[in-house]
Order: sequence, then C-alpha cells, then structure tokens
Amino acid sequence: MRTLFYPFLVPGGVLLLAVAVLVHWLEVPAGVEALLGYVPHVVLALGLFLGWRFNRSRLIFALLVLAIAERALALTDGALLLRTVAVLLPLNLTWISFLRERGLLTPWGLVRVAIIGAQVAAAGWLIHAVPDRLSAWLRWTPTHWLELTTVSVGPWAALALALSALIVLLHFLRRPAVFEAAFFWALPAIFLGLFVTHSQQAMTLYFSGAGLILLTGVLETSHFMAFRDELTGLAARRAMNEALLKLGSRYAIAMVDIDHFKKINDRYGHDVGDQVLRMVAAKLAAVAGGGRPFRYGGEEFAVIFPGKGAEEVVPYLERLRISIEQAEFVIRSRRRPRKKPENPKNRGSTRQVLKVAVSIGVAERGGKRAPEEVLKAADQALYRAKKQGRNQVCRK
Ligand code: GH3
Ligand code: MG
Ligand code: MG
Repeated sequence: MRTLFYPFLVPGGVLLLAVAVLVHWLEVPAGVEALLGYVPHVVLALGLFLGWRFNRSRLIFALLVLAIAERALALTDGALLLRTVAVLLPLNLTWISFLRERGLLTPWGLVRVAIIGAQVAAAGWLIHAVPDRLSAWLRWTPTHWLELTTVSVGPWAALALALSALIVLLHFLRRPAVFEAAFFWALPAIFLGLFVTHSQQAMTLYFSGAGLILLTGVLETSHFMAFRDELTGLAARRAMNEALLKLGSRYAIAMVDIDHFKKINDRYGHDVGDQVLRMVAAKLAAVAGGGRPFRYGGEEFAVIFPGKGAEEVVPYLERLRISIEQAEFVIRSRRRPRKKPENPKNRGSTRQVLKVAVSIGVAERGGKRAPEEVLKAADQALYRAKKQGRNQVCRK
C-alpha cells in the first residue's frame, strides 16, 4: 500500500495543499504580493525548459493548455468563457496524460499542437458567434446545482472534471508513477482556481500550482528512474553506492548470484531470463531482518543489512535462498496456443515449470574495513559458495 500511497500524495497533494494555504489562509505582505505576479512566468519558463531538456512533451503540452486557459480567463471576463474552459481543460489534461512520448517538433508533436489550436479556435468562435446557444447549453442545470463563490459549476464542467479525475486515477493505479499522480492533482488545482476563488490572482496562483505539480512530477520521476532498476523494480547500483556511504560502524552485506543463469538464457531465451530476474527480485524484496536489496548488475544482487553482523543475518539469507529454491517459476511457452485448447487435458503441456537457485556470500564490517572491502569479502564468500556446489550461503 505504501508504494501506492506515497507517490500519490507526495509531492502532488502536498503542493496543492501549500497553494490552497497560500491562497486562502495566508496574509501575504504587500512586497511579497508583487512577487507572486512573477510565479506563473517562472513556472512556465522552468517547465518548458525542463520539458525540452528532459524530453517530456507531455509536460510542455500540459503547460501550454494551462497557460492558454489562464491567459484567456485573465484577459476576458465572463462566465461563459469560464464554463467553456472548465469543460475543456480537464479533458485535455486527461488526454495529454495518456500521450506517449513522441517529441514536440515531430509529426506527432505538431498534430498535437494543432489539436490544441483547433480547440482554441473552435471555442473562440462559439463564444463570439453563438454565445446564447452555447451559454444555454453549458448552463443547462437540473434544478439545484453546486453554487460556489460566484459562478455555478454546471453539470458539464462537473461531469468533465469527475470523469477526468476517475480516468487519471485509474491510469495512476495501473502505472503508479509520480508524474501520473501529478496529472491527477492538477485537476483539483484547476477546479479550485476556476470556481473557489474570488480574484484573478488566486485563479492564476492555482493554475501555476497545477503547473508546478506537473513540473515537480517530471523531476521526481526522472530522479526515481535514475536510482531504480527498470527491469526488476529494485533499487539500482547508483542507489546502492549512496546507501554504502550512509552506513554506520556495523553492517553486513550479502552478494546474491543466480546459479547457472546463462543456461536459463541459452535454453529458454532472454525473455524468460528477464522473467526469472524479476521473480528472484520479488523474493529479494521480501527478505526479512531489515535487509535492503539492490540489483548490483546483470544477474547479481546485493542485500545490505544495516546494524547487523554477518552471523546474525545468515538465517534470513538461508530463508531467502530456500524461498527461491522452492519457488516454481512457470514459463509461459511461446508455443502456447492463442485460443483455448479444445482438449483441456493437453493444457499442461505448454506450461513448463522452471527451478532456480541462488548462491549467497555474506560479510560484515570488522576492524577498519571500508564498504568496498566488505563488498569484496562478500564476493569472495560468494565465490566459495559457487565452488562448493552452489545453492548455499557462505560467510566470510
Ligand atoms: P554461475 O552459476 O557461476 O553464476 O553461472 P552463471 O551462468 O549464472 O554466470 P555467468 O556470469 O556465466 O552468466 C551470467 C549471464 O547473465 C550472462 C548474461 O547473458 C546474463 N544476463 C546478464 N544480465 C541479464 C539481463 O538483464 N537479462 C537476461 N535475460 N540475462 C542477463
Ligand atoms: Mg550466476
Ligand atoms: Mg554472475
């Protein structure tokens, strides 16, 4: 649950709360208030720069629609424009959140820009040419409706917002990344900006908040990607190097290496090899005794036990080794028929069960040994485990 809650609430939810506090509850001194006028420009400039340098066109498109909406609302006063924006903006953010990264100055990127431009043109034309019909349609209200500060939300805006929030939330649950959560939090930010504020400045601040949430989402996701191994989801070597520097005077390090992994690759193919790596990583993630697992490289993993000695952690490593040894890795055969076989008795024939084992070497910090030396000692213990017949734990 923590893996879902945390990236969902932080930083998006926290940032939204901060903006709400700033807008509704803080007494801003006059000097600072003048500075607040620069916030949207700074957010937009930083976001566009980041989107360009990090190759995240979704950020650029999202900031683009936010900026267009904010400028339109700031320059023209009117409930009709506000209601139009309230319908279009959430739907656009939802659409953008689903886009695959295909660049900005590419045919795909230009089509996306054109879609945004077409909406601006269509909305502008409708508001000028047929304001009464558009207004009647957008204002159509089933009796009592949500009346907030000055303008009622209207059923279409509420529907667009609720639908967007639901879709983006489901998207996040399928791909729990901070950037996906950011698209969710941008929605209440624009809702508050549109309907629950009393000044244009407050609206602008909420829109800037939405931009800031998205920008931070890109930053955090990039940071996460740098420290996380994509294949297994475990912390990567870079994260381990940092963790080693933070260790105290007592700790144990275990090196874990899959036995005869090359054979698995040779026999079943690289894809199955990858599957096995993921399954072994899942077992490592469940190691007890406060061990932190890392993918060290290839089919080698490391587990750091802060505050523990080597002898102390051997039982946890034994349990880990046995859990991997006993696991049955079911291989989905490539020859598996696409349709359900007519004779269910043959079903088992395409289902292959693969057994995997690991060898583990563990060492502790003793005397004046640096983390690199402990790591080396664990590696030597691992070498011994391999030589003694594999599928065992050896202690230095
Ligand atoms: P031992 O029991 O002595 O450890 O033998 P081994 O075959 O496991 O060790 P070896 O170092 O000879 O082979 C490791 C293999 O792991 C070679 C390489 O192709 C494979 N490998 C490394 N990284 C990956 C990966 O990300 N995915 C897959 N599928 N294979 C990988
Ligand atoms: Mg190996
Ligand atoms: Mg190896």
